[in-house]
Amino acid sequence: MRNVDYDLVIIGGGPAGLTAGLYAARARLNVILLEKSVTGGQIIITDWIENYPGFPEGISGIDLTGRMSEQAKRFGLEIETEEVLSLDCSNKVKKIELGDRTISAHTIIIATGASPRTLGVPGEDDFYGKGVSSCATCDGPFFSGAVVAAVGGGDTAVQESIFLTKFAKKVFLIHRRNELRASKILQERAFANDKIEIVWDSVLTGINGGKTGVTNITIKNVKTGDTSDLAVDGCFMWVGIQPDSGFLGDDIKVDEYGFIIVNERMETSVPGVFAAGDGRRTPLRQIATAIGDAAIAAVSAEHYIGNL
Ligand code: NAP
Repeated sequence: MRNVDYDLVIIGGGPAGLTAGLYAARARLNVILLEKSVTGGQIIITDWIENYPGFPEGISGIDLTGRMSEQAKRFGLEIETEEVLSLDCSNKVKKIELGDRTISAHTIIIATGASPRTLGVPGEDDFYGKGVSSCATCDGPFFSGAVVAAVGGGDTAVQESIFLTKFAKKVFLIHRRNELRASKILQERAFANDKIEIVWDSVLTGINGGKTGVTNITIKNVKTGDTSDLAVDGCFMWVGIQPDSGFLGDDIKVDEYGFIIVNERMETSVPGVFAAGDGRRTPLRQIATAIGDAAIAAVSAEHYIGNL
């Protein structure tokens, strides 16, 4: 057990990583959590969370992250801002490559989550940050009194479109089908919101504008094939998520979309490496499921270390 820096390295500081850290710290493991930017993951770009139990009025993403982080630190979790560049899991002692050094650990929990997907339509990259965004909490206030488009039909698109109506005078929700994927309660709110107009059966084919930013988008009706331009000041992209798993290498098995495959103990294909949260293959991506995963992963890591 000597010459190894840590019992456990947790990669990612969203709800899954912070929960794994809480459990590991309380298990008195020699643990560190590495987060490449700020803790919180996707929930810090979520304005208001209503389906995390224990907060009857709801809680902001930033507030919830702060509480999770404070709770884990109270039990001694060390959190460092570091980007993991790659992993070497070919030996029992795993190597974690950081920019300026390599650290070693008996176990790793990957909790790097996922990021918003992009569509790759013309103008999307050019106008990113100049009218194109995936974060209503960050950019919504810039669209006070404006007309914006939101693309997608899932929980994120619908919830964040509703949030955008606090600022924008009109939100066109562009969805490729004639039925939303989002949960029913969010659908009811969107349908009841007279600032939201849903453009059904339509896909975004281009984002257009000039020096001042976005001026209009081009959409195509998938049933009729007709294309049309819609004058908007901004375009929010909420067409799903992709896992942040590029650093994993070939040892850890992922599915065709890059989500990590785990068993019920959150064990990946590599002994001693576990995964939790949105970055794993799972039928449901919620804060509640991420923290459940993380508790299991931390206890599995503890058992693995105990058996060494
Ligand atoms: P999602 O559930 O995968 O929904 C993505 C949406 O984008 C779908 O409506 C999909 O259309 C559409 N889409 C995908 N590719 C497209 C394309 N190429 N062109 C046009 N539209 C496209 O993603 P999400 O809404 O980001 O949510 C991710 C996860 O987080 C989900 O598990 C969700 O439940 C969870 N989440 C939960 C909450 C909450 O509980 N309040 C809030 C946010 C997110 P189709 O419907 O036709 O497939």
